[in-house]
Amino acid sequence: MSDSMSDTIAAIATPIGTGAIGIVRVSGADSLAILRRVFRREDRADDYASHMMYFGFVTHEGERVDEALAVFFRAPKSYTAEDSAEIYCHGGTVTVRRTLEAVLKAGARAAEPGEFTRRAFENGRIDLTRAEATLSLIEATSEAAARVSLNALSGGSARFISAAKESLSHMLAAIDAAIDFPDEVDETLTRAELLLGIDALLSSLEKASDETVRRRVTEGITVVLAGAPNVGKSSLLNAILNEERAIVHDKAGTTRDIIEGSLQIAGMSVTIYDTAGLRNTADAVEQIGIDRALARIERADIVFAVLDASRGVSDDEQERVQSVPRNKLRIIFNKTDLINGRENSILTDKFPPVPIYYTSAVSGAGIGEVIAAIRGVAEQTDGGGALVLNARQAELARSASAILREAKTNLEGGDPIDPLSTDLMAALSILCQIDGSDAKETVIDDIFRLFCVGK
Ligand code: GDP
Repeated sequence: MSDSMSDTIAAIATPIGTGAIGIVRVSGADSLAILRRVFRREDRADDYASHMMYFGFVTHEGERVDEALAVFFRAPKSYTAEDSAEIYCHGGTVTVRRTLEAVLKAGARAAEPGEFTRRAFENGRIDLTRAEATLSLIEATSEAAARVSLNALSGGSARFISAAKESLSHMLAAIDAAIDFPDEVDETLTRAELLLGIDALLSSLEKASDETVRRRVTEGITVVLAGAPNVGKSSLLNAILNEERAIVHDKAGTTRDIIEGSLQIAGMSVTIYDTAGLRNTADAVEQIGIDRALARIERADIVFAVLDASRGVSDDEQERVQSVPRNKLRIIFNKTDLINGRENSILTDKFPPVPIYYTSAVSGAGIGEVIAAIRGVAEQTDGGGALVLNARQAELARSASAILREAKTNLEGGDPIDPLSTDLMAALSILCQIDGSDAKETVIDDIFRLFCVGK
């Protein structure tokens, strides 16, 4: 960032628009002087105790702008770890904007996006994982995503990376000792310890950078209802959404009511797609739709193959069901109301051994079980707030893992331990990019560019 860290910066920290309160935030060495210039306390005093709220008036060019509250935060006990102030105005576009103008006139500079958080980072109050968590918490669209972000904001990821770095440092020290004191250190023992250490580190890094978990938590779970036309896919989609009564959004298709719906299950976002895709066709246009559906099936967490219980299953349908990867496949026999409790007569041995659900989109029978199946995947993913690195961090963690895996193979293959130091140092340097203790300026710029002004 080109702008000087010594400037005192200011921005509106609340969304622009009508609201009860609008906050103008100030940070930097001149914060107190600026507060004194723009804020007239009701008691006319101007000695501000840190973290105390005072009542008074914002003034600009000799005119009262608003009746407001103000707080001064003395360094280092503030968001940025610098002297800071916040003025709580009445919400609405005019007073908040005029308050900011008054603050800027009194000597502050308009803050860049993310500059407050960047200062907290540059001043060493938070590491890069916590800075990123600030943004992801603001952007979280599900409870699960918010929980993961809050864990990182509270230092969960920072502690994890710091422990990983420490373990690498110990291993490096052990290698040095073995090289420097060959008579005193038993190299066989050192090798065994190194292998154990690398294994433990690999498994924790791999777990924290699991792409499926990250995608499910941050982007949500994808469920596909696949099947031939008229088996009742869109009716089922509607039945599921109605049952939960928690529709976040739905999208109208050209030929059907809803082809996509999102809801929250067990605190996670779940998007359900009603799609074709379990049918062969000679029609080129339809084939495009089916290809798209197949791509969606590939990315899905759960695929419900929907079949019509009231009619036989065609060979084509059967073949298509078989083509869905087992671990995500579930089968639904819909329209059970038409067979009056004769579910037992359906020959299920023609299908892979996966859970089978019997539903009626008309009567609602079995819909609860289908939702419970989705909830199962959601709960299993959430894993009680396990550590989940974000995309940038996970990619770096995977690079570090790749180096460690190779080092492990070499060590197991009987290579000498000396060159291992280079590998471990490389892994350590990657971990330093995760928490920002050694990250490139451009990477840091890119991260903070995503923030809004005032954060
Ligand atoms: P899609 O083409 O697979 O999406 O199927 P639709 O949901 O459009 O349903 C096709 C037809 O089957 C419609 O007339 C629905 O009313 C009917 N239908 C869907 N589900 C059921 C069900 O469980 N029982 C009965 N009796 N009819 C159903």
